[in-house]
Amino acid sequence: MKFVKVLERLSNACGVAGREDEVRALMKDLLTPNVDAVQEDRLGNVIGVRRGRNDAPKVMIAAHMDEIGLMVKNVTAEGFVQFTKIGGIDDRILIAQKVILHTEKRPLTGVIGSKPPHILKDAEKKKVIEAEALFIDVGASSKKEAEAMGIRVGDPVSFDITFTQLGDDVVVGKAFDDRVGCAVLASVMERLGDVDCTVYAVGTIQEEVGLRGATTAAFGLSPDVGIALDATVAGGVPGVKEVETSIKMRRGPAITVADRGLITHPRVLRLLIDAAEKGGIPHQLEAGLPGSTDAARIALTREGVPSGVISIPTRYIHSPVSMLSLDDAENAAKLAVAAIENVSQSF
Ligand SMILES: [Zn+2]
Repeated sequence: MKFVKVLERLSNACGVAGREDEVRALMKDLLTPNVDAVQEDRLGNVIGVRRGRNDAPKVMIAAHMDEIGLMVKNVTAEGFVQFTKIGGIDDRILIAQKVILHTEKRPLTGVIGSKPPHILKDAEKKKVIEAEALFIDVGASSKKEAEAMGIRVGDPVSFDITFTQLGDDVVVGKAFDDRVGCAVLASVMERLGDVDCTVYAVGTIQEEVGLRGATTAAFGLSPDVGIALDATVAGGVPGVKEVETSIKMRRGPAITVADRGLITHPRVLRLLIDAAEKGGIPHQLEAGLPGSTDAARIALTREGVPSGVISIPTRYIHSPVSMLSLDDAENAAKLAVAAIENVSQSF
């Protein structure tokens, strides 16, 4: 399947942290043709194993399957759905979104309502409405009716946005953090030839709420090297200063030097930079982003696992209208493949 099709399917799939089922099923399908075995661990991480010629070293390459979203917290007597946020969401992007409530019975459409401008007071116009004050309108007239529709406390809620391609290279959609990583992971396994090392391709759960799946997956696999494939903040748009992030879309994948949770092991950093330079793959170095990735947890597994991150610059990350360049994603896959092919010389 073409990369853009894979990304489209992954982006349109829903997998708010803790409810990754739809993405998990897709990842199993995508990995199966290119690995020796696919398994699911007890918490729901998907692990594809590709055994190398001599089994050593073991590389864990991970992308998280979960996305940010909402969760039903309460249904009011009038039938309005109040919610809590799952993962990092700016309250200002919530108003006027169309959402899908994933009830046990069936998916339901709702909208996040707000007060029309006609009746807004001047002071209200300047204020951010906090998530706690917002609600989802599902068209129900009472709590009883909402419950009859199947809505329960704890139901996951995702943004209702369809993947769209803009021109040849640029796409827009939801959950590119980290479905682009998942798509790149599938592509890496497809491109990978015979290698010395054993590769564990892992789709992890619950990254957005604290890097949880990677923690247990890495413990179970005990790899020698870890690589996380993730999305990162792309600047280069009005309002984002160069000092806040110098990473830009269409300049190639970013190689993390350090973020809040990880200082990339020098040998892994060398491996990634060498792979990019020798392969003529455009890339950018990233330092100082106040976030983190699965690599932070992989690195601290057992006695420690030298780890690094390859990420795809993504504009408007953690919003329903994330944007990225397909070329950047393709180059991320090339970079990861080149690094894996050279891993046995460095570890
Ligand atoms: Zn991410």
